[in-house]
Order: sequence, then structure tokens, then C-alpha cells
Amino acid sequence: MDHILSGIKPTGQLTLGNYIGAINKFVKLQDKGESFLFIADLHALTLPIDPEVLRTNSRDLAAFYLAAGLDPNKSNIFLQSDVSAHAELAIILQNYLYMGELSRMTQFKDKSSKMKEEAIGLGLFAYPVLMAADIVLYDSKVIPVGEDQIQHVELTRDLVKRFNNRYGDVLVMPRAEVAKVGARIMSLSDPTKKMSKSDPKGDIYLKDEPAVIRKKIMSAVTDMEAHVHYDPEKQPGISNLMTIMSSLTGKSFEEIEKEFEGKGYGDFKRAVADIVCSEMENLQKRYKEVIESGLVDKVLEKGAKRANEVASKVLERVQKAVGLYHK
Ligand code: ATP
Ligand code: MG
Repeated sequence: MDHILSGIKPTGQLTLGNYIGAINKFVKLQDKGESFLFIADLHALTLPIDPEVLRTNSRDLAAFYLAAGLDPNKSNIFLQSDVSAHAELAIILQNYLYMGELSRMTQFKDKSSKMKEEAIGLGLFAYPVLMAADIVLYDSKVIPVGEDQIQHVELTRDLVKRFNNRYGDVLVMPRAEVAKVGARIMSLSDPTKKMSKSDPKGDIYLKDEPAVIRKKIMSAVTDMEAHVHYDPEKQPGISNLMTIMSSLTGKSFEEIEKEFEGKGYGDFKRAVADIVCSEMENLQKRYKEVIESGLVDKVLEKGAKRANEVASKVLERVQKAVGLYHK
């Protein structure tokens, strides 16, 4: 059975981008293999975060995984920090990734561009090293991610090639699995920018009240073309709303264009808002049930136990390969 691996950082409130680009994809894949889905709390430390906020976000993220339909009997849900092999392996792997390639990573450039050099933590720079450790630790072949994380998975592939050339067949080669539609949901207030939980502008949050979601969608930035047509270059705002609609309903762009032929943006936005609100209402209802059930801690404990089982074996394989003493 293939292993599937992914994670989300508990850096802030989850967005519709995280839901469509990542969580929904995890749910669809969970029957295709054994999933290892973690809450990337170590990664969340790469930018300043309040300890209480981090704890709350981590619990929330686990609850949303369950609310979205991940079955703890099929998928292992756990905290990254509960499996110490992540940190141990990262210390080894950092020697096989180079400063030049790390400094070319878009995420690092984006997140550090507004910071003074003295304030940029080493962890932010070394983020892809820890991510490579996350990925190879479960011998996982399939890595479901949004578009922005493809570059890090590609870097992990380079690392696996480099490492295996030197030490033999030690690490399994992963590949990014990206949704055809919805791998990059854009901000509603600036549709040329990705929706990101650490950048609150133009986000829809999974915890937003339906009335708030409706208002955000109704005031989403569009254009003067006045017809519902998929063209991300010329009509990025409308194309983004079409992507959201298509991801949540399975309708193709052609079907949506046909449905709204001759209709105004107001009608179209109202239809998008109806779909998103109904999806979020269901999700929020299940989220509340999960929180009230007290299931989260049990799921995280069970997930960490199984994750440790798999990860410790892979870590030992790597330690042996590089010559660290092992009986
Ligand atoms: P941050 O601002 O802290 O980086 P983020 O919203 O980018 O938060 P991550 O934790 O970095 O979220 O990413 C979790 C997963 O969600 C990744 O697989 C990422 O590719 C995916 N993802 C993030 N934003 C979007 C988006 N706007 N559209 C589709 N997928 C997304
Ligand atoms: Mg991100």
C-alpha cells in the first residue's frame, strides 16, 4: 500500500484555499493508501507566534481534518512535534541541501522579503530541509499539496536523487499530487495574490460566519468585462470565483460559463456565495461536533503512535547508511 503524506502549518485560521487545495484532496486520497497527515507545528515556529495561539490553532487544525471527513481509522493524524524523528532526520539531511538552492525558494523569498536580515530566523531559511525530512520519513510516494508547495517537493526529489546516488537505495522518491482545479485559490481582494492564512487580506476563513462569507464574496474584486468567462490573465477575479465554484461542485468551467451566459456578476457571485456558505455551514457543524466529542486528543495520540513506528525505522535506515553507529 502506498504511503500518502502531507501537512498544514497551524500558523493561523484555516482558509478556503487550504480547504480546497489541501484538506479536500486528502479526503479524496484517503482510500488510495495509508495517509500520514500531520499538523506542522515545528514549521509554524519559523515565524514569531504566540504559544497559546499555536496550541489553539493546532487543535483546531486536527478538528477540521476530522470535520472535513478524514477517518482516523484510515488516516494517521498527528502533531509533527510528537514524532522526534522529524527533527532528527532534518539535522542529517541539512548536509545534503545547499545554501544556493535554499535561497532560491519562492516561499523563503516571499516571507523574508519584508523582514530585516537580522530578524530572519535560520529556521525560515532551512524550512525545506525539515519539509524534506517530513516527506521521506514515511517512504511516501504521493504528496498532495497546493501549487505553492510544488517547488519544495521538487527540491526533496533532488535531495533523494543526490542521497541515493551516494548511499544506495535508501530513500523513496516522492511526487507532488496537485489538484487540476483549485491548487491555487487567490485572494478575493487581490486576485493576483494567493490566499494565505498568514496574510489576512481577501481570505475566507473556515470559521467565518456564513453572513461574513457572503459579504466577502459579494464584494470580491472582479473586472469590467461583464461576462462570466474563465481567463486567469484577463479576468483573474472571475476566474478565481469560477475555480472555487468548480472545486466545490465538480462543474467544469464550460458548464459554469453556459449556466451564467447573459447574466451579471451579481447573480454569479450570489450563486458562488450560496455554494460556499452551504459547504462551510456543514463543515462548521461537524467541526463543533468534533470539538464537543473530545475526540481530538485520542486521534492525535493514536496517529503519533503509528507515525513513530514507521518514522523510527526510516530514520534508522538513514543513520545506518551515513555511518552513524547502529548495532
Ligand atoms: P501561510 O501563510 O502560513 O504559509 P498557507 O495558507 O499558505 O499559510 P500552508 O500551511 O503554508 O498554508 O499550506 C498548507 C497546504 O495548503 C499546502 O499544501 C498549500 O499548498 C495549500 N495551500 C495554501 N494556500 C493555498 C491556496 N491559496 N490555494 C490552494 N492551496 C493552498
Ligand atoms: Mg504557505
